[in-house]
Amino acid sequence: MNDAAMALLIKCKQEAQAGVDYSPRDGAICPWCGCKAKIYRTMPWVGGVRVRYHRCHESGCAMHALNITIKSVQEDPTI
Ligand SMILES: [Zn+2]
Repeated sequence: MNDAAMALLIKCKQEAQAGVDYSPRDGAICPWCGCKAKIYRTMPWVGGVRVRYHRCHESGCAMHALNITIKSVQEDPTI
């Protein structure tokens, strides 16, 4: 893996861990491959924010290959 790919991988991993935006229509998008990541855990609403945990199931995706959990954050716009 070259330096650019490594830097991108680290960036995507950090995004996945920090939390990507959750869209009610599109769900959470895998920061590596851009596919919709499947939910495996949904947390309750806490203070207008709901956290979900996802995994990307695309074969060939680095997030999938490395078994990296993608966190998503949904905010209630009415709060
Ligand atoms: Zn992916």
